[in-house]
Amino acid sequence: MIDVFVHRRCIRKLEHSVFAAGRNEIGGVLAAKQVDDGCFLIVDLSVQSDGTEENFEREPIQHREFISRFHDRVGHKPDQYNYLGEWHSHPSHPATPSEKDLLQMQELVEDHEQQSSFLVLMIVKLGLDGKLRGSAHGFRPNLPPVRARLHGIEEWASQDGYRPVIFVSSKVEGV
Ligand SMILES: [Zn+2]
Repeated sequence: MIDVFVHRRCIRKLEHSVFAAGRNEIGGVLAAKQVDDGCFLIVDLSVQSDGTEENFEREPIQHREFISRFHDRVGHKPDQYNYLGEWHSHPSHPATPSEKDLLQMQELVEDHEQQSSFLVLMIVKLGLDGKLRGSAHGFRPNLPPVRARLHGIEEWASQDGYRPVIFVSSKVEGV
């Protein structure tokens, strides 16, 4: 079971950037706090706004610098605070990963250059009501992506500055 929550501050950042980008895809990386076993709270995210209507190409150097600044800011506690994965928007498509997205994430989690054995891909878009919609999938080396069950954003509105946008509850297939 994997739970991914998004801090209210990050929701606002996503809403603003996705709205400003219009029909262009944008994205970045996710910085998270591990709250519990399989439970992550996204506390910051980078935004790279040079995507096109059909594509978003990540700029690895820019995001590496963002994560390095994040580690500086939280006092270098990688067990607790770390890079969690990637996000991008699908303004013209459903907020679920494409085949290409799934393949790219699988390659990334199996890439020996990066040290995480678990990564999340979050896809977001603005609904017709202007509210954020999203999905999240978890990836591990040599395993199929974790299927996510997504609950609506508004029904999860809560207090304490945490506004869970995504509640992922699933098991890795075959495990
Ligand atoms: Zn995509």
